[in-house]
Amino acid sequence: MSPALATAAPPQAEAAIGSTRQSEEWAWPAVTERVYIPALVVAALATALVAIGWTNRWGGEGFVGSWKSLRVVVVGPISLVVIGMILVVERLRPAQIRPRFARGYRQDLLYAVFNAVIVLPLVTALTLSFSAIVTKMFPWIIIPRIGIVPRWVVIVAIFVVMDGCNWYVHLANHRIQMLWRFHELHHSQEDLNVLTVFRTHPLIHVSYLLALIPGVMLVSNGALPTALLVGYGCIVAFAHSNTNLGFGFLGRILVSPNYHRIHHRLVGPQDVNLGFALTVWDQLFHRAVFPTSETIRIDTGLPGRPLIVEQMGTRPNLLRVFAIQLMAPFRPTEVSFKPPSIRNPALRWFEERDQRAGDRDSRSAVEPGAAEGSR
Ligand SMILES: [Zn+2]
Ligand SMILES: [Zn+2]
Repeated sequence: MSPALATAAPPQAEAAIGSTRQSEEWAWPAVTERVYIPALVVAALATALVAIGWTNRWGGEGFVGSWKSLRVVVVGPISLVVIGMILVVERLRPAQIRPRFARGYRQDLLYAVFNAVIVLPLVTALTLSFSAIVTKMFPWIIIPRIGIVPRWVVIVAIFVVMDGCNWYVHLANHRIQMLWRFHELHHSQEDLNVLTVFRTHPLIHVSYLLALIPGVMLVSNGALPTALLVGYGCIVAFAHSNTNLGFGFLGRILVSPNYHRIHHRLVGPQDVNLGFALTVWDQLFHRAVFPTSETIRIDTGLPGRPLIVEQMGTRPNLLRVFAIQLMAPFRPTEVSFKPPSIRNPALRWFEERDQRAGDRDSRSAVEPGAAEGSR
C-alpha cells in the first residue's frame, strides 16, 4: 500500500467528516433564522454583570438599600404625584385628542407595573455591579477630593455630563442594530403618553450603564441628591406626555413634550432630538429640530409596524402583545425570513383572530359599531 493511500481516510470516515461539515453549514443558518444572536449577547452580558455583582456582594453596597433608593426615584410618592398631575395636564391641553383609556395607555400602564416590580431590582443589580467593576478595574478615573470646588458645582457637573452620556447612548441605540432591537419598543408607541417613559425593554438598561461613569468619577466630591434624580425622571416623563407644551424660551434648553414628540414621529428621521433633559447636546451636534405648529400634533410610531403593537387588530390582547414585544429583539433579521407569515407569526395570529371574529359577527348579525375600535 502506498503511503498516500495509507494516510488517506477510509471512505466511511470521509463520509462522516463530510456530513459533519454539511450539518455545521446547515446548523448555523438554522440558528440565525430562529434567533438574532447579537440580542443574546446583550442578554448574556446582563446575566454576567448580575452574576459578578452577586458573587462580589455588590461591591460592598447594600442591595436592598440601593433598590429602595431607586424605587423612590422611579415610583416614589413624589414621582407618582407628578405623573398624576401630568395625566391631568394631558387631558387639559392634549396634543392629540384620544379616548381616556386608549389601548396605548393601558399597554404602557402594564410596562409601568412591570418596571416597578421586575425591572427595578435588575437595574439595581446592573448599576451596583457595573460601578464596582469600573472602580476596581480603573481606580485612576476616580478624582480625589478637591476641597476648593463647591459641592453644588460638582453636582451640576455630574448632572450635565450624565445627561450628555445618556444622549450619546441614545444615539448609539439608533445607530447600532443590536441596540435598536431593544430600543424600537419605545418608539413603537402610537398613543404617546406620560407612561411611555416606562415602555422600554429591560435589557436596554445595559447600554445606559455608561451614564454612571461621571458619578463614579466624582464620587469622592459629591453625588446627585435623590431629589435631583426625581426631578430628572419627571422631566423625561413629562417630555413623553400627550401635551401641547413647548416651554417658551426655556424650550431652547429643556426638553419639552413638543420637542420630544418630533423624536417619536412616524414620518421623518427619528435620530434627532435625542436629548433626555437638555437640548444642548442636540444643538451641539446639529440634531435639534425645534417644534412648529405643524409638528405639535404629528403621529408617532414606527413606519410599517415592524414590531407588533397593541393598536393592531379589532380587539385588544394586551398581555399577549406585551409578551411578543419583550421577545421581539431576539427575532431573526428580516433578510433571513421572507414570507411575512413566518417573519412575524404574531401578525398571522392577529389576522386569523380578526377573521374568526368577523365570521362570528356576521353570523350573529351584530352591527359593525359593536366591535371595539382600534383604540
Ligand atoms: Zn430614540
Ligand atoms: Zn422617548
